Amino acid sequence: MVELKTCRYCLRPAQLLKHGESGYPYPHKDYGPTWTCVPCKAWVGCHPGTENALGGLANAELRAAKMAAHAAFDPLWRAKMARDGCSKSHARKSGYRWLSQQLGIPYKKTHIGQFDLDECQRVIEVCNKRGKQQ
Ligand SMILES: [Zn+2]
Repeated sequence: MVELKTCRYCLRPAQLLKHGESGYPYPHKDYGPTWTCVPCKAWVGCHPGTENALGGLANAELRAAKMAAHAAFDPLWRAKMARDGCSKSHARKSGYRWLSQQLGIPYKKTHIGQFDLDECQRVIEVCNKRGKQQ
């Protein structure tokens, strides 16, 4: 069962587009099917091999915010990995556990890929604060 997606900006139904179809966000590369709202230039990819969206549709502003949030957060768990010699998945998991406590969001819902603008902003704030303490 594929869950249909709605554009969070205009609230119209998103279209599931494949590479080569008009409006597909990556005309030169096939990143698999994407749920796209052409007028809002907002889209989200799918879990590999499925038509189930990875999260909500994101426009250019939110895509940039998510990239900035990852740029602030990823070095923290990478530093832990180097410091403690633990695996990537362990370091990442404990990073997300810490992040969920900082943001007051349940651990299961703590995924940068699904955050909105405000949440991305808070990720950047808490990670920068933490980074300065290290
Ligand atoms: Zn839209």
